[in-house]
Amino acid sequence: MKLTELFNSKTVFSLEVFPPRNELSSQRIIPTLEGLQEIAPDFISVTLGAGGIGHDQGTFEIADFIQNTLNIPAVVHVPCLYLSQEQVLTLLDQLKEINVTNILALRGDFIPGRKPVGDFSHANELIEFVKKERPLFSIASACYPDKHREAVSFVEDIACLRKKIDAGSDHLITQLFFNNESFYTFKEKAEIAGINVPIEAGIMPCTNKKQIERIAKVSGVPIPHKYSQMLDKYQNNKEALEDAGVAYAVEQIIDLVAHGVDGIHLYTMNHATVAQKIWRETRSIFKATSKNS
Ligand code: FAD
Repeated sequence: MKLTELFNSKTVFSLEVFPPRNELSSQRIIPTLEGLQEIAPDFISVTLGAGGIGHDQGTFEIADFIQNTLNIPAVVHVPCLYLSQEQVLTLLDQLKEINVTNILALRGDFIPGRKPVGDFSHANELIEFVKKERPLFSIASACYPDKHREAVSFVEDIACLRKKIDAGSDHLITQLFFNNESFYTFKEKAEIAGINVPIEAGIMPCTNKKQIERIAKVSGVPIPHKYSQMLDKYQNNKEALEDAGVAYAVEQIIDLVAHGVDGIHLYTMNHATVAQKIWRETRSIFKATSKNS
């Protein structure tokens, strides 16, 4: 089933995981994925390091497990700066062999000291290439409610986003954001620019102050005062910070769903228990908004 069809009948709830980066997280990844299965998400996306599949071997195995063992649609992230056209085709053909036909097409970030391959400079070029060479694939792409940090203006960023839609992107997933007003303003600007594909809101629950501050800084996402107060207050109490982080994410989700968001994409950070808590607090809201009910 094409992922975009999901949005016709419901408010989508999807998850993101990343491949394990050390021995301990390797041992935990299968129980984590099984824990996420409980949620019965509409799909699970798997990140891929900017260096390409050779630099993140786990992505392929995890996507295979999600798609073929858990029977949940898997979406594989494909950052293109460091991939040649030939490598992209090989990757897509390998994905097709494991029945994965959904990708998140990305430019990726520059790796200091490493020259990009040169076949793709921006995500719209990858989207156009995949649509032409492997039209079977459904393509999602990224968008930025607080503006991409390299874009000089919102107008420029939205114009570039429009290029991704014109190239054939079927749906969008946002960067994390902490202030829903950013999302509503962004959505309005996107609509004015004629962007009318489903847009999923990316929500990242906080479980670790340093980690969330680092991610926000690298992505250029502003942290509202209310949020930093929460981080400061509970930074030394793991349980309290997790509870507060879950409550904040739940509040964001309830408000977004009430405003008619197309879907929520939860950045799980591979914390199955946190994702489960959020799901338990919000699942009735998703059921209530089913377009079939
Ligand atoms: P682009 O769409 O190419 O945009 C990058 C910048 O260039 C923007 O400022 C844009 O305004 C501008 N621009 C876009 N098109 C053009 C054009 N044609 N001409 C001139 N300027 C243009 N990174 C990874 O390495 N691996 C992952 O798994 C991963 N997963 C992600 C998942 C999500 C949901 C998101 C939001 C991001 C993810 N990233 C990942 C990070 C992403 O690679 C970075 O944000 C990257 O800096 C931009 O990627 P993009 O696809 O949005 O790039």
